[in-house]
Amino acid sequence: VLEAAGERKSFGETEVLKGVDLKVHRGEVVAVIGPSGSGKTTMIRTLNAMETIDSGDVLYRGNPVGYRHTPGGPKRVSDRELAPTREHIGMVFQQFNLFPHKTVLENVTFAPGYLGKGAPAEVRELALAQLRKVGMAAHADKYPHQLSGGQQQRVAIARALAMNPEAILFDEPTSALDPELVEEVLKVMTELAAEGLTMVMVTHEMRFAREVADWVVFMDQGVVVEEGPAAELFGNPQHERTRRFLSRVM
Ligand code: ATP
Repeated sequence: VLEAAGERKSFGETEVLKGVDLKVHRGEVVAVIGPSGSGKTTMIRTLNAMETIDSGDVLYRGNPVGYRHTPGGPKRVSDRELAPTREHIGMVFQQFNLFPHKTVLENVTFAPGYLGKGAPAEVRELALAQLRKVGMAAHADKYPHQLSGGQQQRVAIARALAMNPEAILFDEPTSALDPELVEEVLKVMTELAAEGLTMVMVTHEMRFAREVADWVVFMDQGVVVEEGPAAELFGNPQHERTRRFLSRVM
């Protein structure tokens, strides 16, 4: 359902993505791993046009995400044109990015309410259902600052789910958390994976990636060096760079 092909992106003089290809099938859990600065975050952000590309393709169900082809390269479309696609591709950030002045429940109802996804009572019920799913319904009336990082991240996941997206992108969802809070977030993600949600996640949690991902992509210096089923990539990496990285982090 999601695809990047020959994706290139520079920040000034630095080319961060140097021709990245990626395919995400429906119901698949894809983990993106690799050293710091290899372009993982930039890549995942291009998948719902949080980040533009300089050339190549990003496609959702075969349609360009966030740009139009022009002779001069991809040209960004307006946020309004982009909105329907973004509804289908949710995102969970490293820093949670909850609205600080809205309650937990308001954070989750905001987007579906704003977009008229149902009567207010219906939107509220659905939001509460998502909050129950991540174990946060009891905190519905609290504000983000009253919650731990792990709780905030679970609310952010409920917020993404509330749009009923086809896929959710997770950008290092646990790396801002204290170690003892990581597990509760990974548990929710594991449950979502088991339910068949399509997920793409940049993660430093190798054990989690190995256990939960169907497909693992190893990026280094702006390219996909190697990819494959989790058991193969972790169990029998083919490239020296992959082996060196895994021996450092596992
Ligand atoms: P990490 O695991 O440390 O988050 P990463 O693999 O996710 O790393 P990116 O965050 O995609 O890597 O960054 C790749 C490179 O692009 C880095 O060298 C970074 O400094 C640079 N970069 C990222 N965003 C920007 C930006 N907005 N402006 C300039 N340079 C950027």
